[in-house]
Amino acid sequence: MLEAVFSSSSNSTGFRIRAAQGRAADHGLSDHGFAGWAGRVAATLFFTLFPADCRICGSPLIRVSRLPVCETCLIALRPLKGSYCTVCGEALHVPAYIDYEETDRREVDRLEANRSDVETRCLLCQRADPPFERAVAYGSYDGELRDLIHLLKFQQVRPASAILGHMLAETIANLEQAMPVGTLFSSKIAVVPVPLHARKQAQRGFNQAEMIAREALKELSRPKRFDLCMGILLRRRETGSQIGLTRHQRRENMRGAFAVSDPTRILNRNVLLIDDVYTTGTTASECARVLRRAGAATVWVATVARTLKISDAIILPENFSEQVSEDRQRLAAHG
Ligand SMILES: [Zn+2]
Ligand SMILES: [Zn+2]
Repeated sequence: MLEAVFSSSSNSTGFRIRAAQGRAADHGLSDHGFAGWAGRVAATLFFTLFPADCRICGSPLIRVSRLPVCETCLIALRPLKGSYCTVCGEALHVPAYIDYEETDRREVDRLEANRSDVETRCLLCQRADPPFERAVAYGSYDGELRDLIHLLKFQQVRPASAILGHMLAETIANLEQAMPVGTLFSSKIAVVPVPLHARKQAQRGFNQAEMIAREALKELSRPKRFDLCMGILLRRRETGSQIGLTRHQRRENMRGAFAVSDPTRILNRNVLLIDDVYTTGTTASECARVLRRAGAATVWVATVARTLKISDAIILPENFSEQVSEDRQRLAAHG
């Protein structure tokens, strides 16, 4: 049996050795012994000589890299540009767009004066403050960025975490300026990645939020300001898909999903919650609520990507809530 394997692998092409390895496996030799070793050497040689295609766009890779993504796809990973809700990060249409080239000076002054009244929060954040101070993201959850996150999460391409972590580091650096210097209890910001349920983490082999957070912390200019707090926030149950649920149903779906294991570690501290993606904000809000209830002073949210729905920053009249309750009373009176 061994002789057969050796004779077929005596031809030095990688293909032949791989074939021999396959045959060895057929004969129950599996990965052990010479055939397995030769197969691994051949495979390495094969991928060095013929690098794989870009796992995002499929074009052939010119350079050999641990991350199987081409230069063009990497360049396409751009940060968000435009106007965003200053609380939750949702995209806003800015009502008073000023075309500086075409507008005369006096008109520009008038428009700019008006602009200072423009509401910088989206409609949802105007109606109710979320349980976190601010949520920020590096880019929009679509195109190459979405694909890169999927490579990490669903295809276990772990080297993707370094570049995602780099983007998160940039996002955190911007957010850091707005964050308080510290509380009486701790000057360090407690970094808390959104946990996965134990079963899901075992299945995936890692928690992408934790992995990206670790990569990001390595790159921050003041890493001593941050303190990665693992095991504080727990996911008690799997929550299932949020797709197709209303806001209310999503919140119900999340209720009781998270818990804080040791409140003393976040008591009166500023917490930075980390996740790969911010979609509807339900997860971030629920985590923030649980952390605040356990005693966190403030909760901030940073993610690599965000789903953007484009919300109009409609300015609500000051007495909006009074009007609403008046309308309700009137409706109630009319049965
Ligand atoms: Zn590509
Ligand atoms: Zn908002």
